[in-house]
Amino acid sequence: MLSLDQIEAVFNSSTIPTALFSPSDDPVFVAVNDAFLQTSTRTREELVGTRLFAAFGAPQESLEDSSATALKESIALAIRTGKPQTMPAQHYPIKVRQADGSEAYEDRYWNAVNAPVFDAAGRLIFVLHYTLDITSQVKAQQEQRATSELYSTLIASMDDGFCIVEVLYDEAGKPVDYRFLDINPAFEAQTGLKDARGKTVRELVPDSNDTHWAELYSSVALTGRPLRLVEEGSPIGRWFNIYATRVGDPKQGKVAVLFSDVTESRRARDDLRSLAADLATENRRKTEFLATLAHELRNPLAPIRTGLELIQLAGGKLPARVHEMMDRQLNQLVHLIDDLLDIARINSGKVQLKRERIALQDAIANAVDTALPLIAAAGHQLDVSTPDVPLVVHADPIRLAQVFSNLLTNAAKYTPAGGNIGITVQHDEGGVRVAVTDSGIGIPADALTGVFDMFSQVSRNMGRAQGGLGIGLSLVRSLVEMHGGAVHAESPGEGKGSSFVVELPLATGGAAHAPASAEPSAVGQLPSRSSLKILVADDNVDAAETFTALLEIGGHEVDVVHDGRQALEQAQSGSYDLAILDIGMPGLSGYEVAAALRTMPGCVHTFLAALTGWGSEEDQARARAAGFDAHLTKPAGLDDMNCLLQSLPDRRAQ
Ligand code: ADP
Repeated sequence: MLSLDQIEAVFNSSTIPTALFSPSDDPVFVAVNDAFLQTSTRTREELVGTRLFAAFGAPQESLEDSSATALKESIALAIRTGKPQTMPAQHYPIKVRQADGSEAYEDRYWNAVNAPVFDAAGRLIFVLHYTLDITSQVKAQQEQRATSELYSTLIASMDDGFCIVEVLYDEAGKPVDYRFLDINPAFEAQTGLKDARGKTVRELVPDSNDTHWAELYSSVALTGRPLRLVEEGSPIGRWFNIYATRVGDPKQGKVAVLFSDVTESRRARDDLRSLAADLATENRRKTEFLATLAHELRNPLAPIRTGLELIQLAGGKLPARVHEMMDRQLNQLVHLIDDLLDIARINSGKVQLKRERIALQDAIANAVDTALPLIAAAGHQLDVSTPDVPLVVHADPIRLAQVFSNLLTNAAKYTPAGGNIGITVQHDEGGVRVAVTDSGIGIPADALTGVFDMFSQVSRNMGRAQGGLGIGLSLVRSLVEMHGGAVHAESPGEGKGSSFVVELPLATGGAAHAPASAEPSAVGQLPSRSSLKILVADDNVDAAETFTALLEIGGHEVDVVHDGRQALEQAQSGSYDLAILDIGMPGLSGYEVAAALRTMPGCVHTFLAALTGWGSEEDQARARAAGFDAHLTKPAGLDDMNCLLQSLPDRRAQ
């Protein structure tokens, strides 16, 4: 049996604040343990023998004494029922002494139990009161509640849809459906699903057999890996941007899903894509159209050119002035068509440079040769200043000359008669800078970059277009860039001249080898060959006839046919020195005729020349593969024919 002292020692050493009250509705402190004194910041003398509600009345004047009332009721109930009474958490601030000696109230929360104590005879002798300071738990709960309120408010007020779903599985453990445990107000607007809380997808969309979403959410719940995707919510036909993440235990199969309806923006993006695709198709069609247009325009030019040459050869009555004028106009037309064809081919990536090491000066000299007639006709002064030492560039000689001749031609076109045109060349270790300057009409500052765009013509706006398509500079820029260089325009303003500057990288090391310059052809002379037997096949009757007439004047024996089959029949009847075949003929194409001729015994030594409006490297390679020895691009004139005939002689001896 414990002694009284021992019982008191146990009572005082308990860490649970405990007090003994007299069993009445106005109880008096009979005993208090040390823990009680410590938490209440009172002394034993202050409390023992004092009435409970005198010692602990209203905690603060400002506070209503609700906790005192609750305590009173709980003690009364314990006395009345004879059973311990657990009180709900009570807010009861405690007066504490501050470090500076002043007193202040500290917020505290308490749990308390009031238990009746009976003696051996069953008489109620005390009320045992023990209490626990639960301030830290209550504060933590309050903070948690505040945080969850914050998130609930946020989720409730946002425009994005939010829901917590629980994945549902069949007996085999396969995810088949999911239930919306919680949803936010935006959920309905985003999904169009009404009263979804507590319902499954199958209940909401009965037609849906799709388990896709249940599977996705199940994998999020099982793996804990969040999911982020844009997908069509197939049961309701809308697109959603979705973020899903697991909540709770994996076994619960719960997933929080945040989503927004992106159907409209997706539609807009798809529209934009199809618009871009349409534009690309349009652009491709335009390029193809340009190529076809240029090709078709070339065809009628062939007979016109040959006709003009024939008139001259025949000593026709056409005054020299008129003849020159027609020749010039024809050249201009050919030039325009060539530009058109070039730009179409560059745009569709069909131009390949034949680059070699050349002296830049040679390309400039060739360009000057081309542009000189126009410069001279306008009475311009041309000043070309290039360094003596050859500047070696890795370039396609023909294309580079085309760049400078286009710039020179423009300088001549856009400079009033009697102006000055100059070419200057500067170089350093890595590169060269060629400036083509003129004293012409100049370019407004805001048009300096735009002039290089296709079909752009500043002068058209200023009423000063000079007969062009607005593609020359676009060609220049493409060709320069294909050479790894850059071009830009400079001009102090309208009426103050312009300068086009081409920058190109210099080739490293080695000396330039000048491009083999073709012997100048004897323009205006007849093909100077002994008489040849020639077959001409072209479905363009005018072109064939004029070409034939030109050859006949040269003393050659010519047979003409107008389709592929006739060409084959005709070739069987006699052995020809030369067959000039159009490619696009009805019946059999020029390629097919050439391939057939190559197998005919009588034609083994016949020189085969293709004559076509298509003059790209690809076309020429195709002609060679079909068995052709040479390739002429329409409109072929006297010069081309002379060249062709020059390349024949030794074959006849074979
Ligand atoms: P085109 O000469 O066929 O119109 P280009 O592409 O060669 O086309 O030139 C585009 C436009 O740039 C020209 O129409 C003209 O307005 C302007 N331009 C080109 N070269 C010069 C120049 N040397 N001086 C003034 N304007 C020029």
